Amino acid sequence: MKTLLTEEQLQEGIRRMADDIRKHYEGRQLTIVGVLIGSVVLLADLIRLLDIPLRVEMVQARSYRHGSTRPGPLVINTDMLTSGVRGRDVLLIDDIFDTGHTLWELIPQIDELGPASVRSAVLLRKAGRCEAPVEPDFVAFEIPDRFVVGYGLDYNEMHRNLPYVAALEPEEL
Ligand code: 5GP
Ligand code: MG
Repeated sequence: MKTLLTEEQLQEGIRRMADDIRKHYEGRQLTIVGVLIGSVVLLADLIRLLDIPLRVEMVQARSYRHGSTRPGPLVINTDMLTSGVRGRDVLLIDDIFDTGHTLWELIPQIDELGPASVRSAVLLRKAGRCEAPVEPDFVAFEIPDRFVVGYGLDYNEMHRNLPYVAALEPEEL
């Protein structure tokens, strides 16, 4: 395992992203929608840096994985949105933007619920991987095309609790 982003680097990048988000939503109420499970660590840190009125909701996006690093078909569950997003300014939060399929499928499902706007923020964006005509609006870090864990990101549901982001070596996968 090789550390890509230390705790200090993560906090600095998230603070920068929080500043951009705060400026963008100044004077409005925000509805943060976290994508379970990977976004929970980012979500917890990010919302405490956003001193603006906001709600927090969650959706689930799971790809039934073939092996643990190659995603399979994506299943999205928006049933857990409690107070709804109708008329609200929604900011989707995910751990990592890789091929873009998750956001590409999630955004239209949120759109159907009648929000005022939908934007997205991710901790990490993998270079040169995007396959869908969508881009995240806020990105804390660009990383090389490596399988990463930590700070919410898992390998076989493990390593989410690491306070840093690390790349697994090919022999660890
Ligand atoms: P996308 O749909 O953009 O290809 O991928 C987004 C999802 O794939 C993320 O929410 C995450 O669950 C998973 N993913 C993509 N790359 C990685 C990675 O390097 N490490 C981990 N742990 N998950 C990843
Ligand atoms: Mg995910």
